[in-house]
Amino acid sequence: MWKKLIKLVSRKGLKRWVGLVMAVLATVAAVWGPFPTLAADTGGAGLATLSEGAIEVVTKETAQVPVENYKISQGYRFFHPGVDLAAKLGEPVKPVAKGKVILVAYDKWNYGNHIIIDHGGYQSLYGHLSRINVVEGQEVDTETIMGEVGSSGRSTGPHLHLEIREGDKTVNPKSVLDIK
Ligand SMILES: [Zn+2]
Repeated sequence: MWKKLIKLVSRKGLKRWVGLVMAVLATVAAVWGPFPTLAADTGGAGLATLSEGAIEVVTKETAQVPVENYKISQGYRFFHPGVDLAAKLGEPVKPVAKGKVILVAYDKWNYGNHIIIDHGGYQSLYGHLSRINVVEGQEVDTETIMGEVGSSGRSTGPHLHLEIREGDKTVNPKSVLDIK
């Protein structure tokens, strides 16, 4: 029974907890101001300092993968600070969590049409879009179709480039999302 539990916690559980911890911190940060350290490696330590009430508030609001049908075409590594989710042209793109649009821009040599969402403590970036439906300052939630998968900017085929940023650092989106 213990073996099973440890296995569960170390695999699926960890991702879920990290996501949860981030969501909790984001919520807490939104209420009490920014946290100095909001890293994906908070693990159990960060969790222990949080009250149960705060956790309950955010369980309904866990982070989601922004596209439904996808295949990872490139992972998070040196010189590639995000994940590439290959998907059909026009596939709807939703935010990983609720937040506010802080940037809508076009960048010919890199991200193409892209959006940055602030989640109160961390940001997410969606690149190479073919279409954008949101404007800066707009509030979005997990149901908002912000745009469509495309191949704008430096891209060789339709895919979503997804980055998760904390301050001036990026983190592996896999540490926050259940990406297969
Ligand atoms: Zn990419």
